[in-house]
Amino acid sequence: MRIRFWGTRGSIATPGPSTVRYGGNTSCVELRSDAGTLVVLDCGTGARPLGLALVAEDGSPSGAILLGHTHWDHIQGLPFFEPLFRPGGRWELYGPRGLGPSMSSTLAGQMQYQYFPVSVEQLGADVSYHDLVEGTFEVGDLRVRTQYLNHPALTLGYRIEGDGAVVCYLSDHEPFDATLGDGGDVRSSGQDERHAAFMEGADVVIHDAQYQAAEYASRVGWGHSTVEYVVDAAVAAGVGRTVLYHHDPAHDDDTLDALVARARRRAAGRTEVAAAAEGDVLEVRGTAAPDEPAEASGLRPAAMALAVEDLTSTVVVAVGDPALRAQLLAAAAAEHLPAVDAADGPDLDGTGPTVVVVDVDEDDGALDGLRALLERVAGPTPAVLAVTRSLRDLSAPVPSITDWLVWPASAGHVRTKLRAAVLRRACRWLAAPRPADEDRRLDALRHLEVLDTAPEERFDRFTEAACRALGTPIAMITLVDAERQWFKSRRGVGFAESDRDQSVCAHAILGSDVLQIPDLLEDARFADNPAILATDARFYAGAPIVLDDGSHVGTLCVVDHRPRLLDDDQLAELRRLAAGVAAELQRDPRA
Ligand SMILES: [Zn+2]
Ligand SMILES: [Zn+2]
Repeated sequence: MRIRFWGTRGSIATPGPSTVRYGGNTSCVELRSDAGTLVVLDCGTGARPLGLALVAEDGSPSGAILLGHTHWDHIQGLPFFEPLFRPGGRWELYGPRGLGPSMSSTLAGQMQYQYFPVSVEQLGADVSYHDLVEGTFEVGDLRVRTQYLNHPALTLGYRIEGDGAVVCYLSDHEPFDATLGDGGDVRSSGQDERHAAFMEGADVVIHDAQYQAAEYASRVGWGHSTVEYVVDAAVAAGVGRTVLYHHDPAHDDDTLDALVARARRRAAGRTEVAAAAEGDVLEVRGTAAPDEPAEASGLRPAAMALAVEDLTSTVVVAVGDPALRAQLLAAAAAEHLPAVDAADGPDLDGTGPTVVVVDVDEDDGALDGLRALLERVAGPTPAVLAVTRSLRDLSAPVPSITDWLVWPASAGHVRTKLRAAVLRRACRWLAAPRPADEDRRLDALRHLEVLDTAPEERFDRFTEAACRALGTPIAMITLVDAERQWFKSRRGVGFAESDRDQSVCAHAILGSDVLQIPDLLEDARFADNPAILATDARFYAGAPIVLDDGSHVGTLCVVDHRPRLLDDDQLAELRRLAAGVAAELQRDPRA
């Protein structure tokens, strides 16, 4: 891989004689794989010279843009990025998903006519937008992982793997535990340890290092790191080369030289340290292990579809401190999340809250209260956002906590934490992607004229045979329609159809053989699926029903209330019965 820095500055462009060596443009890094995959990391003002260089090289270049977040210093070069105006180019634009407007409309906002003379509709290149959550996705021959950073806007860090090398881009992040601004053991705070783990073994880490420790005390909550924290985290993670980045506009070249010297003394050779300078090129030769396929990582896709209703459920605020409670309720309102005070005795028997916020410093009663509250929730387990004054004073590990908010925090930080908690909660189960031949598949299904017809013995005998042969209480002939799954035959199931996004069969039709899930609750794709939690299902096996034209219209599936595994004979029987269903579906019963 090769990296080139086009913008290294944070906050605002800072041109002039005192910044010529490290550069005045804001965040923008070009990364290319050996095979030529082009990735642009952030589009600050450095994106303008990068765009001009790309166009000079290839009239209508194509590539991917990965935005960490949409603060000005990371997007202001986007409307000046020449390749976007060149017909024939294709650009994939990735950025963190929010709860409100999509990233495309946020970006369109900065190109409204009050601010900019050209609108987003006038871009000449073919641009597609991808909203990301934590997970993994692929760009050309590169695998990208995402993880939330600690910043007053929802911000993603990127870990990019390819050519046997690993590069991390972690811009706009501050220690979760503010005392780590002085440096120290990142393992003392679980959140910071997770941050360090994200850069584990990286060959190169490009990291926000806007301050030194002495400057940080008055800037806690601004969302930026110190060189002390960055060096200590990089050393703990075994990082080969650490590149200080997102330079403070108040730091001139000489100040940055001093900062680098300070960081190198601290690193003492355990990680190589440099500060990013505009125009610098880094050739990255991998020392990392060979790439494993994305599926093997156990991570879910970062660009997955989320149902809107999962992003709108209630926040329960179980916090005594009136100032903190007011701030939390205001943040929830700003994110359009309905919020209730736990003291008001909310009704938790329905769908339940998405997020519970608890103040763990209050007293032991707060945690007992949390446990009691979680026990009362009927639906899927909510995300728990825990508030604390210091991540270091926690005496014992606290169960069920998804995320931490260190108080006091700015309104922006509180909103960001709520967003991340809702998104994490919403992302714990996975809707199946649509198959490549979806249109043709739906045509074939409609052509059968079987949807919404009455039960028929000629199909019921297959579900009966499946239950008998495989010893399960439940079997279904599931047909996967555009937005739902509908059962032509069902044994042991009380409903006739359900939502496709929550359907296990929608996953099963993607394969060519039986999909067997020994324990749904142990499988990240299904563990929190509301449809599964509502039915007590534990075991699933589904064989695709394949028509003569190759269309996978549905499955013959069996479900049990206990974890299991089918043996080879049982798998063969399920396949044989599914083939029988396919034949029956295509047979004219009048013939
Ligand atoms: Zn920034
Ligand atoms: Zn920012």
